[in-house]
Amino acid sequence: MRSYTLLAAAKINLYLEIVGSRPDGFHELIMVMQSVSLCDRITVRSIGVDEIRVRCDHPLVPADETNLAYKAAALVMSQYPGAMAKLGGVEITIEKQIPVGAGLAGGSSNAAAVLVGLDLLWNLGLTQSELQELGAELGSDIPFCVSGGTAIATGRGEQLDALPGIDNLHLVIAKYESEFVSTPWAYKTYRAEYGDTYVTDAKGWQERQAQVRSGEMVRAVARRDAIAVGQHLCNDFEKIVLEAHPKTAALKATMADLGGLGTLMSGSGPSVFTLAGSEAEAKELATKLRTALPDSDLGVWTAQFLPSGVQLVS
Ligand code: ATP
Repeated sequence: MRSYTLLAAAKINLYLEIVGSRPDGFHELIMVMQSVSLCDRITVRSIGVDEIRVRCDHPLVPADETNLAYKAAALVMSQYPGAMAKLGGVEITIEKQIPVGAGLAGGSSNAAAVLVGLDLLWNLGLTQSELQELGAELGSDIPFCVSGGTAIATGRGEQLDALPGIDNLHLVIAKYESEFVSTPWAYKTYRAEYGDTYVTDAKGWQERQAQVRSGEMVRAVARRDAIAVGQHLCNDFEKIVLEAHPKTAALKATMADLGGLGTLMSGSGPSVFTLAGSEAEAKELATKLRTALPDSDLGVWTAQFLPSGVQLVS
């Protein structure tokens, strides 16, 4: 039976600005996204029966049709029904490294890897943009996870423009195991607290009046200026998530005090990262962090920027 194993990279947001809300219920965003080398391992394997099976080694991740990896396979199957009939069903095995519900797009990255893996397994010959269009039907972060690297994402996050990759940037990522943030809660709370800073236009679109400038971050990335990237880190979700999660707020303050190029919460949190100029510096920061916060439920990882989102291993 044929199988493919792929690495699905986590993403961090170097910049996340909620610029408005849309009549379709989504928010209008400007984000700078970056793939990092904290990866789940995804194997797609042909099986003799016409079904989709999911196995996952993480207790908090459902191994049923609610798993985003399952949804990705079901979507491909519905679009290309002949492929499964000819080549059989698929068993998807997920080996988790990316913390769950952490703002690191773990589920989205798994779905992206399944799209890429099934394209190979079922000989579909899809282009990257066709895979991204499929991904956009399942979640706003999935198109980025398919291509990965460094990109500016607009719209609800699905409109992507690649940015030059920043090599040699490393980071420390930390998250309390006991802390979770639901992304829908984060949007709802942000809207409740900051919705009155939006103005409504004739088409019902609401835009925030005072906009943060994403241009500075894009210029810093384009110049591959790691120091400027660290200086222009920005995440609108910090305002509400850190207030509701004092433990994560204290984690961010501790990480920022350790040095490094800059510290930010990723996505809707609660994971927090600090950028570092080298692998040695990232490891040193991680050691300092473990010493400063010896709590047994604090997960600490070191990683580096990656130029792609999904990588074929075998
Ligand atoms: P995002 O940053 O895209 O909002 P996240 O990193 O905060 O996502 P995930 O790790 O993707 O969060 O998990 C969010 C929820 O999705 C969890 O409650 C989890 O049970 C569910 N889920 C479904 N499929 C997966 C998957 N393959 N991997 C991880 N979580 C999954």
